[in-house]
Amino acid sequence: MTADPDLYGVLGVERSASSDEIKRAFRKLAMEFHPDRNKESGAEARFKQVNAAYEVLSDPDKRAKYDRFGLNGVNGGAQGFAGYEGFGGFGDIFDAFFRGTGQRRGGPQQGSDLRASLDITLEEAVFGAEKEIVFQRTERCLECKSTGQLNGDPRETCSECNGQGELRRVQQSLFGQFVNVTACPRCRGEGQIVTNPCPECRGAGAKRARVKRTVRIPGGVDDGSQIRIAGEGDAGMHGGASGSLYVELNVQEHEVFKRLDTNLVYDLPLNVAQASLGVELEVPTLEGEQVALKLKPGVQPGEVHVIKGRGVPLLRGNGRGDLLVRTFVVVPSKLSKEQQELMRQLADSLGTPTVPDDASFFGRIRDALS
Ligand SMILES: [Zn+2]
Ligand SMILES: [Zn+2]
Repeated sequence: MTADPDLYGVLGVERSASSDEIKRAFRKLAMEFHPDRNKESGAEARFKQVNAAYEVLSDPDKRAKYDRFGLNGVNGGAQGFAGYEGFGGFGDIFDAFFRGTGQRRGGPQQGSDLRASLDITLEEAVFGAEKEIVFQRTERCLECKSTGQLNGDPRETCSECNGQGELRRVQQSLFGQFVNVTACPRCRGEGQIVTNPCPECRGAGAKRARVKRTVRIPGGVDDGSQIRIAGEGDAGMHGGASGSLYVELNVQEHEVFKRLDTNLVYDLPLNVAQASLGVELEVPTLEGEQVALKLKPGVQPGEVHVIKGRGVPLLRGNGRGDLLVRTFVVVPSKLSKEQQELMRQLADSLGTPTVPDDASFFGRIRDALS
């Protein structure tokens, strides 16, 4: 409810200060304002400020939360603050220290961000697409111009808090007086109340709506990629900006192609004769074309042949990944009489094979992938 105190300012360090710099600044100020040494008025209050600031900034986790969300983020943490809960919580102490710069709740409120997921095909992920998405969000009520009052009349000032949105109570504690600030229960901290509700939104000033939007998916996105659409989240209230819509993409499995980073993998089955003699054939690409591939005699199972530039476009910069053709040598499990006879002749002619040199075999795969 109060404006966030500047903890870095309290310690006199930059926001980018290292943990050592923060520790040094804390030690210096703690010595300077320690109540045992410094009897000037205000020294004790400064001492407590310095301690409280150090408690947050010396803890990487609390510091990160403070940097992102301000003191509320730190306060909201599950652990709370050891040593401070006893007299009304950390927030109250800061309210007392930094009193007077309060920001009422009735002011602009940013709308919430929304999340949605969208199923897309591998083709859409690779080449990009425009897809329609339907989702629910909170929108301003046009009927009352989001005041919540009939005919859009302005809301009335709350008599409980005189429009302040908060109630302040002076509390006694070990360290002296503190001001305890709570949200006004009557107006729920808004400072204004609806006396004559708009029938369209029942006084809320906002209503749920189903909206349809077109999402532009750039080529090269992957499973789990997120697209942020600014301004398409929940509407802000009292002049606040709308939140964003985050669309998470689920790329469905493809029947033919698999994805490997920016490459596509195609499994090519060969019979033993093709593998032995070599073969010229065509392999499909994701865009539905056929490209020629010439394999030399002696194709081994699991070999990878690279067709340049037929993979996934790079999201940043130009170029595309490759199409990796992985060979499978399919050994027949059923043969006709005639085939058996041919195989028998072949077996006699070939004799017993030797185990292939592993190093060169794996080396080929590595070379093909690099
Ligand atoms: Zn009130
Ligand atoms: Zn309304």
